[in-house]
Amino acid sequence: MAKKFVKAIFPGSFDPITNGHLDVISRGMKLFDELIIAVGRSPVKNQLFTPEERVEMIAELITGMPGVSVEPFEGLTVEYAARKKADVILRGLRSLTDVQYEFQLAMTNRAVAGIETVFIMTSEQYGFTSSTLIREIASLGGDLSNLIPKSVQKRLKQRLKKTGQEARNSRSETRSDSEDTILNT
Ligand code: ADP
Repeated sequence: MAKKFVKAIFPGSFDPITNGHLDVISRGMKLFDELIIAVGRSPVKNQLFTPEERVEMIAELITGMPGVSVEPFEGLTVEYAARKKADVILRGLRSLTDVQYEFQLAMTNRAVAGIETVFIMTSEQYGFTSSTLIREIASLGGDLSNLIPKSVQKRLKQRLKKTGQEARNSRSETRSDSEDTILNT
């Protein structure tokens, strides 16, 4: 019997991509014939990088990985999966806390669209890595060299410098506004 071609999508925010995500991608690559990393716009999460920037960062990291590609998507994951004719959704698991949330998500996706979710457990060293934690550590100037690729570290540094600068500028604008008020009264 001919082997079935299996196409998977790996949806997520990837804000930014971490070594934990990359670990799941490199394991997934061995299981599926095609793997599309789908970068979503989360309506609830506070985002540091635009979806286009996140796609760019991931594209640099997956060159040389056969069958793996990246693209942005909007809307429901199951609708995107149907458009791409994906057979499965891939998700990563770090801990029991993930299981509870991911289980609910996978059941819902199967109930509404009949699509299966495949889970890959991360390596132990990335069990505590999340993009949120990475953003927090980076904003406090911590060392992230074991948790994210060098290229991502560089972009994070640049972005935080810029946002720090913007925050300082807006604080000084507010100050001069109040100084104007004082001068005008
Ligand atoms: P989402 O907002 O969809 O949760 P994330 O970018 O946070 O997007 O995560 C995308 C997927 O990658 C999820 O399945 C998540 O559980 C998984 N993931 C995140 N960090 C890790 C990690 N360190 N190891 C393994 N899987 C991870």
